[in-house]
Amino acid sequence: MPFFHEILVLMVWKGWLTLEEMPVRVLLFKSKACAFCDPVERMVRKVISRVFGGDLVTINVFDVDEHRELADMYNVTSLPYVMVEDTPVITGMATEKEVEEALMKGMLYTSPSRAERLETRAKQVFIEANINFIKSINSKERIRHSIGDYVHISNLQLSTVSLLSLDKAAGGLLYTIGKLAGKTGAFSGILYDLAPKLHSPNISREEAFRNVLIAFDRFHIKQNEMGVYDARNAEVVEEGDGYGRIRIYECATATGMPIVGEPVCYFTAGMLSGLAEAILGETVHVAEKACWGLGDSYCEFEITLEGEETKKEGYASEPLVEEPAEKMRRISFNRLMKTLMRNMTQSILEGRRIRVGITDYTHIMNLQQQITSIKLADPVAGFLLKLAGKRLGELMPGGENLSFREAVAEVKSHLNSPIALLSGIHSHCKIKDVGDGNALITIHGCATASGQEDVKVSLCEFEAGIIEGFVEKSTGEPVVCREVECWGLGQDHCTFKIEREEFS
Ligand SMILES: [Zn+2]
Ligand SMILES: [Zn+2]
Repeated sequence: MPFFHEILVLMVWKGWLTLEEMPVRVLLFKSKACAFCDPVERMVRKVISRVFGGDLVTINVFDVDEHRELADMYNVTSLPYVMVEDTPVITGMATEKEVEEALMKGMLYTSPSRAERLETRAKQVFIEANINFIKSINSKERIRHSIGDYVHISNLQLSTVSLLSLDKAAGGLLYTIGKLAGKTGAFSGILYDLAPKLHSPNISREEAFRNVLIAFDRFHIKQNEMGVYDARNAEVVEEGDGYGRIRIYECATATGMPIVGEPVCYFTAGMLSGLAEAILGETVHVAEKACWGLGDSYCEFEITLEGEETKKEGYASEPLVEEPAEKMRRISFNRLMKTLMRNMTQSILEGRRIRVGITDYTHIMNLQQQITSIKLADPVAGFLLKLAGKRLGELMPGGENLSFREAVAEVKSHLNSPIALLSGIHSHCKIKDVGDGNALITIHGCATASGQEDVKVSLCEFEAGIIEGFVEKSTGEPVVCREVECWGLGQDHCTFKIEREEFS
């Protein structure tokens, strides 16, 4: 039912809408006879303005008695019926918590397709961010003069895992971001150098595919020479016609992670797919078959050049169903996040290395490519990053029943703790202003944004989420944290505004 998409794409193409204005469409079907419809509609409106920001999401309400055809077209069977774009998320009565979860999932499921169809400005921004990556690494000039440009891999793992903890569909989003990063060309030039046969104009399709595998095999060693430290190395472990398996050792995203029953390197899978597609000009499917998250001590990716038997893409877009397993999943992800925080402490303070053959630090541009890029690819996904950060903030150890001022002071001491500083996540933080109901906190040398150009977008949604989650947990009151200054907005630091909800 791509009918609304086509209209939106047309409006963007015609220049009637800029991408910032391009809304996600929420459709709500109701009827006058339905007792649950009005309360659910109120909750949907409230959650959208509170969590997802009114500017990026539009709500259209239809009375099924007046719009029978539309209701039939979308198979509306029970009321109220709420959809995020083409994905049904609520059928029948729901509590506010359920509405929030359902909308969040809907945004997640639809995010990859939004990111994929960004052809105009956002894509340009994305390409520039990627080119900056290579430039800053090649120049060997420090972006962060005070603390250097490396960040502990646990920080990358915590952001990835917090995002995956929201819903399995986050994997699809990370895959799409990886694919965009691979396709937009920052690294594909290096692959040509690693397998020079790829330059040859007469190379056959199979031979080209084989040489892409050869280039993948050498890719991480080359990256390490450049100072990226994404993984120790890789090797091709199986190879056939248009098919290959590549094993990656000590990758930044997963190494040392306890078993969670799922693979976690969706970004890498997408990246390999995007790189291969950029070179071959054909569809290449990549699926992670072994991972630390699955109990292996390496990650292994199956790479398939699309042939007669077409496989499905790396993410699903089927209607959402409430799974009983979800609660268990959330518990195991919470446990995982706590383990990752402990791993980081042990690695930093006790010298217990996570990676043996390579440093536990990776270049900040690697973090920016995997996490910061998400918002550049889909503005709405910024809210998902914030929700992910919030989960992490809620898990961070800290006092309870604190006053607002006390909670802000505790945030500051967290952000200035030796672990935070030594992990390279930022240099130092200052409270710029604090009252009983609002505060401004400035962070210098933030790893997620330092060095980014003025793209008119605040980039540190994840950090905003951490602060919001932590202050809410320790005061027991709802607060809103927004980033008001950022590298992405033209400043050389990041400032977060925290407000108690009743004050905002
Ligand atoms: Zn993995
Ligand atoms: Zn920022």
